[in-house]
Parts: sequence; structure tokens; C-alpha cells
Amino acid sequence: MGSVEVKKKSDKKKSAQAQPGWKDIPIGGMILEAGNAFEYKTGGWRTFRPVLDKAKCINCLTCWFYCPDASINVEDGKLTGFDLEHCKGCGICSKVCPVKGSAIKMEKEG
Ligand code: SF4
Ligand code: SF4
Repeated sequence: MGSVEVKKKSDKKKSAQAQPGWKDIPIGGMILEAGNAFEYKTGGWRTFRPVLDKAKCINCLTCWFYCPDASINVEDGKLTGFDLEHCKGCGICSKVCPVKGSAIKMEKEG
């Protein structure tokens, strides 16, 4: 057995130790720990960003209800802005806003 082959086997063993085995993966590859979506910053995917026109907003919070990424920030029942670390720029908030012409405009990321 050559030294190269021995080294390869030891590398393989090390990498196998670092990775969980198939028996350690939950059935269906399910993620069992709740609340971990917050750890994944998805804002980098965005092509368009929501921009609020505060003068137009009537704080009905329809956008908050519909946002699929929970990225509408609300304080004391009023919309305060967007969580741009997680907002994917889908534009749903802008579409569902009942104000004429929408209080949220989608602007192209610079
Ligand atoms: S653009 Fe989409 S993800 Fe971003 S705040 Fe609006 S609804 Fe939420
Ligand atoms: S849906 Fe429009 S009016 Fe209602 S809170 Fe959101 S931005 Fe404001």
C-alpha cells in the first residue's frame, strides 16, 4: 500500500467524521428545529426593494398580513419599514396595498 493511498483513506475517514451519516438525517430531510428561518439572510436574492411612502400609508397592515417573509416591520400598530435582510423583493406588499397607486413602490436595487 503506497503512502498516497494511505493519505486518501485517512482524508476520507476525517471527512466522514465531520459529516452526519444517513442515519442521522431526519426522515424526509425535515428541519426539526423551529424558528431557524431567521438565521438565513435571504435579502441578497432581491432584485427590487420595497420603498414606503409614509404620507400615503393608512397603517391598515394588509401588507404585513400578506408578506410571505414576515419582513414588514410594525411597531405600536404602525408600519415602520422593512426587514431588508430577509425581504426577497417579491412585490406582494406593493400589490395588496389598498391605497390608490399603492403606498409601497418597488424600486430596482442599485
Ligand atoms: S417585497 Fe415581498 S418579501 Fe419584501 S416586504 Fe414586500 S411582501 Fe415582504
Ligand atoms: S398595505 Fe399599504 S396602507 Fe396598508 S399598512 Fe401596508 S403600506 Fe400602509
